[in-house]
Amino acid sequence: MTTIAATASVLPDWSDVQVASARLAGQALRTPVLRSPEMDAWVGAQVYFKCENLQRTGAFKFRGAFNALARFDAGQRKRGAVAFSGGNHALGMALAGQILGIPVTVVMPHDAQASKVDAARRCGAHIVFYDRRTDDREAITRELSEAHGLTLIPPYDHADVIAGQATVTRELIEEVGPLDAIFASQGGGGLLGGATLVTAALAPGCKVYGAEPVTGNHGRQSLQAGRIVHIDPPETIADGARAQHLGALTFALLQRGVTEIVPVEDAMLVACMRRFAQAMKLVVEPTACLGLAAARYGGLPIKGARIGVIVTGGNIDLPRYLGLLQET
Ligand SMILES: *Cc1c(COP(=O)(O)O)cnc(C)c1O
Repeated sequence: MTTIAATASVLPDWSDVQVASARLAGQALRTPVLRSPEMDAWVGAQVYFKCENLQRTGAFKFRGAFNALARFDAGQRKRGAVAFSGGNHALGMALAGQILGIPVTVVMPHDAQASKVDAARRCGAHIVFYDRRTDDREAITRELSEAHGLTLIPPYDHADVIAGQATVTRELIEEVGPLDAIFASQGGGGLLGGATLVTAALAPGCKVYGAEPVTGNHGRQSLQAGRIVHIDPPETIADGARAQHLGALTFALLQRGVTEIVPVEDAMLVACMRRFAQAMKLVVEPTACLGLAAARYGGLPIKGARIGVIVTGGNIDLPRYLGLLQET
């Protein structure tokens, strides 16, 4: 790990990604990389889809969560972990905790998707609800952490979480060889920051594009301003990308390794959800369509290029999914 002098935060590096891959072997699925001639034609490039919607818990977040929990010492394991998340990080933590025998508490909003709450419960997680409008979830989580000695694992700004998420990009590049560009959704930047570690080590010429909702484009603003920009909670159907700011670690990684962050509109996400369903028979949640939308609509110079698109998750309640597909 390398230390950033100014902040004393510790950035993960390639060796941390290698360690994470070893920890995740036999735990995280090596998800398939799928192709579709119809998608290639639609995007105008050769597209390799890394399908983390088929990962355990239905999203890549299991990787970071497991990698973080697997490093706990005996005392931490006994006391347990706490996380705040409306969805996929909560699920990843719940399953990782169940596998490792570590008690996990997740702080979720009252209006979280029912299927996610149920799935976290089935893994034995203890759930604490909060009100999105009136409560401060980070404060609630901190209090739980202090009162019960629980180790807080944040959803993105944590070296072990970032290194775990990086294994997605590593598997993709190892499987298909050098790519001209990689596209990934960006919320708090854990997945994207991890991708920069991998391209720097394995594919230095590969461009790295992040994709975020146009209504919540704090990542793009931050890279332009050269500092972490905070925004109000964005209105978007991409509920996994409602982070309001990057973290110290993810910002440093993105600044160093991301080519550009592409703004995406909700209507583009819906168009991509339909394409995934029709062309590839894949159920993909709105947030996980950001990468494809950026490749299809971003106006970037990728014609005929070999590009990787990370399909980050597939967790969406069916009524909501059907409603979005039917919108005209
Ligand atoms: C969390 C999440 C993202 C964003 O990941 P970050 O590491 O926060 O940038 C994208 N897609 C899905 C499905 C997610 O759950």
